[in-house]
Amino acid sequence: MRISLDEAVAKLQNGEVVAIPTETVYGLAADATNESALRQIYAIKQRPADNPLIVHIGHINQVNEWAAEFPPLAQKLASAFWPGPFTLVLPAKDDVSSIVRAGEPTVALRIPSHPLALQLLKQSGLGLAAPSANKYTQLSPTTAVHVGTGLGECIPVLDGGACQVGIESTIVSVINNDWQLLRHGMIAEAEITAIAGKPALAGLENQPKAPGQHLLHYSPKTPIKLFDSAEALMRYQQISKQTCAVLLIDDGSTNKLLTTKPMKPQPVKPQIVQLPKNPAIVAEQLYGVLHHLDTLNVAQLLVQLPPDRPEWLAILDRLTRAAHHP
Ligand code: AMP
Ligand code: MG
Repeated sequence: MRISLDEAVAKLQNGEVVAIPTETVYGLAADATNESALRQIYAIKQRPADNPLIVHIGHINQVNEWAAEFPPLAQKLASAFWPGPFTLVLPAKDDVSSIVRAGEPTVALRIPSHPLALQLLKQSGLGLAAPSANKYTQLSPTTAVHVGTGLGECIPVLDGGACQVGIESTIVSVINNDWQLLRHGMIAEAEITAIAGKPALAGLENQPKAPGQHLLHYSPKTPIKLFDSAEALMRYQQISKQTCAVLLIDDGSTNKLLTTKPMKPQPVKPQIVQLPKNPAIVAEQLYGVLHHLDTLNVAQLLVQLPPDRPEWLAILDRLTRAAHHP
């Protein structure tokens, strides 16, 4: 159900949940101080209660309403990356609901850059908890249509068009004068290091960093199989007896491959989507393409992984989790 900005503001102020656009993905928003509204988010998403929610704010002055400390390093990062796809985890004030922070001593904060999200935050004056507007572990929505498909048409949606970043925010935790990367996103570690003037805290790479970062996540209904190269993918596709849809991330060889090696006819014609080898474009399109391929009713999605390089880490992270077999 589509609603207007004014209707969205009224519903949120009334303790209801509303799906809202952000530049990363669509969020299922609720007043982050209203515990019954927060419980509705967890219930609709079927999200475990130990998985905390990011609080979206409209202005940097609001940080002090949520965080017990806003150290100079965090201020520097916030000034550089807000509004934008960047979340700061800071020590929480005592009165921040334990539901929104899932019992953690910290709170996660972000100022989104989507103009409609910013307008909504400013007009409502609220801090909005807004995890992705999808069921737990499933593919995140990047259009209003995806929200309706994933959560049902009865969810009120403020339609702000297709998300332009397309994957979830980078999450950074700041404690005193140190920082740690909790989730890769399109703001890369090197950019954060440059602003911070120092690298992330070393030695914690393989420890569980933030609650709720489950191995199975961002997942379409159709099983995904990942390949290091287009050649390996096409070889598999030629011998596979299953119906497949294909996502290629162009590495220059794929055009030749597609034209010089015609694929074996299959019971259902395979669908091939090819994205350019550009991390920003792949991020923007990724969930939309996976949503589309998921509707084709094939047995498997075959996906070519991008190169294992820093600019691709956020996309590699999402694809690896999407393909995880529990
Ligand atoms: P999302 O699912 O995109 O809304 O992002 C939520 C993720 O942010 C959680 O799964 C955590 O990894 C992280 N997060 C949110 N709040 C906190 C918090 N208070 N402390 C640490 N990490 C958090
Ligand atoms: Mg999510």
